[in-house]
Amino acid sequence: MTRVEARQGASLDWRVEFRNTALESQYRRSMRMHDALQIRRTLWIVATLFLLFIPADYSLLGSGTTFTALTLMRCLVAISCLTFVRVITKRPVQAHRPLLLNLVYFITLNSLLLSILLHPGHTGLHISSLMAASLTIYLLVPNRLGRILFWNAYLNLGFLLITWLWKPMDPGMLKASLLILAFTNLMGWMTFSRLNQLQRKQFALLMDERSTNRQLQTEINERQLLESQLRQMASTDPLTGIPNRRHFFELAEREFSRAQREGTPLAICMVDIDRFKVLNDRHGHAVGDLVLSAVASCCASVLRDTDIIGRYGGEEFVIALPQADLATAEPIAERLRQKVHALDLPMIDGETRLSVTVGISQVLPQETALEMALQRADAALYAGKARSRNCVIIASETSAATNAET
Ligand code: GH3
Ligand code: MG
Ligand code: MG
Repeated sequence: MTRVEARQGASLDWRVEFRNTALESQYRRSMRMHDALQIRRTLWIVATLFLLFIPADYSLLGSGTTFTALTLMRCLVAISCLTFVRVITKRPVQAHRPLLLNLVYFITLNSLLLSILLHPGHTGLHISSLMAASLTIYLLVPNRLGRILFWNAYLNLGFLLITWLWKPMDPGMLKASLLILAFTNLMGWMTFSRLNQLQRKQFALLMDERSTNRQLQTEINERQLLESQLRQMASTDPLTGIPNRRHFFELAEREFSRAQREGTPLAICMVDIDRFKVLNDRHGHAVGDLVLSAVASCCASVLRDTDIIGRYGGEEFVIALPQADLATAEPIAERLRQKVHALDLPMIDGETRLSVTVGISQVLPQETALEMALQRADAALYAGKARSRNCVIIASETSAATNAET
């Protein structure tokens, strides 16, 4: 839902309800607990008030049938209110179900009208109780406007009926009473509308804010995903899926510093596919790419989690083996060589056997840069190429000494 649509949906009808029915039911759901609490409080007040009137009735009427009838009626109202309180406490959802609430309205308002009929009190007293009842219906009992108007009309028409049939009033007094009641209804209606308008606008704003937050969160997630994809792309060789040269150096430099700091061994292997140019010429570059990728996976499969492999360039790979000296690195390199040689790739004919030559070196304690060990591994690799290929060569002490000197 866009913001404009949200604003249009958030407009209110004459009942001060959202035109958007989904939004309206969402609002009512959100108000359920609050409304239930409000109704419970009001019912407690009504029940207490009706019971408090019993002593007042007694002082006016003394004991007699009228007093007994009024007392029974007041007790009935109190019991019905408190029963409803109990129902709502157990199941707050009942606060919005019309049946029980209408029943309470029916009992309470009829009792009020009956008390006007039976009570000898002054007309002003009756008008005041009607005003209080009207305002309670408008403002203290959360309900829909239709029902509120209905029960107020019931109350006021009931009063008119009583004054017309059984308790005739002086015409001037009747006019004034009707004016007061009309004004009370107008005031109640207007205040109800204003309150509901404010509450619903506030709810619509909250919803709007939540949807904006959700959109922002989605955008943040998308950006984070994009960033991690970019980071992945910037650090991975797209053909083989292993770290590219730059990323390899980032990781290996860290291991180099650690090895020098802690005095632990770090071995370097340079791996080069033998006669790869011939394979490319014979089978084409596309097949060459597939083979490169297969060899990279094969090399990675013999390594430990802590080892670092990268594509050095072309058909060359470089491996850093933390915590490994030459004696540990050599069998690893040998296993790697054998595994590549045993590779059975369906894209090249069975007679062509792949092989790699591996040069190994170990970082020396006095070395200040990783490149030195790399150069020695490279020199060992080229020695292997010159000798027979498909072999593992360990960098000699002499080349180490030479390197260290330069
Ligand atoms: P040697 O045994 O001495 O290493 O011989 P070689 O043929 O493997 O070495 P040379 O350096 O002569 O050739 C390397 C070849 O690797 C040449 C180049 O076309 C190929 N090559 C480099 N990068 C790629 C690549 O990404 N894909 C493909 N298919 N071939 C590549
Ligand atoms: Mg090669
Ligand atoms: Mg090469």
